[in-house]
Amino acid sequence: MSSAVTLIDVRQWLNGLADGRFSTFVRANGDPILVVIDPGNGSELVALNTSTVEDVAVAVAAARTAFDEGEWPRSAPEVRARALYRLADLVERDLDFLATIEALDTGKPLSEAIFDIQEVAMVLRYYAGWADKVTGQTIPSSSGVLAFTLREPIGVCAAITPWNYPLPILMYKLAPALATGNTFVAKPSENAPLSSIYFMELCQEAGIPDGVVSLVLGSGDVGSELCSNQNLDKIAFTGSTKTGQAIMAAAAKTGTKVSLELGGKSPQVVFESADIDKAVAGVAAGIWINAGQVCVAGSRLIVQNSVKDLFLSKLAEYGSGLKLGHSLEQDSTMGPIISSNQLSNIEKTLQAAEHAGGSIIRLGSTLPAQGYFLSPTIIEGLDARHSIHQEEIFGPVLSVLGFDTEDQAIELANSTRYGLAAGVWTSNAGQAARLARAIKSGTVWVNSYGVFHPTLPFGGTKSSGFGRELGASAIEGYTEIKTVYHDIER
Ligand code: NDP
Repeated sequence: MSSAVTLIDVRQWLNGLADGRFSTFVRANGDPILVVIDPGNGSELVALNTSTVEDVAVAVAAARTAFDEGEWPRSAPEVRARALYRLADLVERDLDFLATIEALDTGKPLSEAIFDIQEVAMVLRYYAGWADKVTGQTIPSSSGVLAFTLREPIGVCAAITPWNYPLPILMYKLAPALATGNTFVAKPSENAPLSSIYFMELCQEAGIPDGVVSLVLGSGDVGSELCSNQNLDKIAFTGSTKTGQAIMAAAAKTGTKVSLELGGKSPQVVFESADIDKAVAGVAAGIWINAGQVCVAGSRLIVQNSVKDLFLSKLAEYGSGLKLGHSLEQDSTMGPIISSNQLSNIEKTLQAAEHAGGSIIRLGSTLPAQGYFLSPTIIEGLDARHSIHQEEIFGPVLSVLGFDTEDQAIELANSTRYGLAAGVWTSNAGQAARLARAIKSGTVWVNSYGVFHPTLPFGGTKSSGFGRELGASAIEGYTEIKTVYHDIER
């Protein structure tokens, strides 16, 4: 349990939100219809005002004015760097508080939420460091010409962010956007908006000028209202492939740039030469951390038949040791599913798989009496084309396939429409390199899984989206190249 002081602070802060005491960076003047639930017990955390159509228009217009006429995009880079460093300091100052509201809102164990908030500070500092290192090139061309490029901010950027890693995923978008001089409108998920709302208070405290950052709130139509606004220059989205497609369709009408980080069905390929205990821990964490609600969840185990039984028995032992519980219970190692709706969708998927002949093993401790909990689950016995191996479940459900040869493993790894991430477990260096090349995905982890670092680009191929976040790639994603052709002949 977090300190009592923090919980009292959280309650006071939530009461303030319920009374409409938002940061002025939050534009939400609609009726209070967004009820935020603690998925760990199903109780109401707070009911919030949401954004009206006018709020969305005002937020984007303010960002437009701040970009077209304001100081932010024209400021010296060290001004933006200082603001981002200050934000990182404020995030660390309020780490306990932020981690507690993130844990309550998402249901994840507090220890995972603390890790997430630490990552937020890292990402802010990484992009603060970039602010004065975004350069163009001088390029040889015709004689008598000085030709060069400038890297300039895109303009008004919007972000629609999910509930599984609310603040880190917001930061993957906001930090490079602000570092490069863009202005920004955030729309967090209705399922877990609290840390993003609090972050707006920190933006204000850090001295970010009015209009440069704002947040809109709501569910049902706020996202589509935002994406259809003609004044946006870029939309960055993380979420389902279906909604990503709808956003692309809306952006096609306005000509807005889009980057999409979408779903996955990432394979974990385990060869007989692997360090089996290390692979078991990596596969287990890959599917059971955050209760499997992870875009890169390693949800398909593809294991060499010679070690399959051994591997599965060790994995079952690992899964049995997981303690399901409320986010603030100190010994809980796995939290709930985000909502009753998501839980019931997953249960339906499991019933269909069982009906089709799949054998389902449910592990972990007894399910808590309250909250939207689902056991860590393993499914065997279904063909690779079955939807259990093809569609994103977004829960702690691992499907299992066996293979004999390396070619079979590659074929199975690539046998879905997704291409977000993959894990390869082997002690054969050549085999690891062959698999890393052959698997079609944005990231391949070798003898490791799910490791993120601000310096390393992240994103998808195939139906998992396009565009890259993090690393230098995100700087490219939030800037445009202008070519200057200067005739210097007299
Ligand atoms: P969605 O992918 O449907 O995204 C919901 C968000 O998108 C909300 O903020 C919503 O705003 C907005 N939105 C919905 N429709 C549109 C639209 N036409 N134009 C613009 N914005 C829109 O996520 P869900 O939370 O419903 O989760 C569904 C599935 O998505 C999960 O089961 C999982 O498979 C996947 N997912 C993947 C994630 C990842 O990290 N890649 C993260 C979370 C979910 P509004 O409410 O205002 O409409």
